[in-house]
Amino acid sequence: MDCLFCKIVEGTIPSNKVFENENILVFHDITPAAPIHVLIIPKKHIPSMNEVSLEDLPIIAEIHQVAQQVASELGVSESGYRLINNCGPDGEQTVHHLHYHLLGGARLGALTGISSSHQ
Ligand code: AMP
Ligand code: ZN
Repeated sequence: MDCLFCKIVEGTIPSNKVFENENILVFHDITPAAPIHVLIIPKKHIPSMNEVSLEDLPIIAEIHQVAQQVASELGVSESGYRLINNCGPDGEQTVHHLHYHLLGGARLGALTGISSSHQ
């Protein structure tokens, strides 16, 4: 399948891994938007939040457990962090394999909503 994150799961494209188990992979974002910026992905190819099915819900729950664990390992549990899923064009989703951004390590500011270039 021609999917960047499936290739990262397969290992044909390298990544800087933080955590891996049977269902989930976590790696550093190539263009960090904060001092800590990792991507948490299911190994299963799910194109976006819109395609998450009932049978996927255990993996979605596990992603939250892994986010909690990775945040602790990266030292941001107490200082705080943000877990973000971008879905579809208005969500600015660029990679069509479900993923959650975990951002931290600095004050991230309030969510700004509509960007000036899209008003
Ligand atoms: P999104 O805009 O929510 O679809 O996020 C996709 C994210 O994937 C962006 O933050 C990119 O910087 C990141 N990204 C793209 N290519 C790679 C790569 N090869 N390794 C790690 N992160 C990547
Ligand atoms: Zn994929």
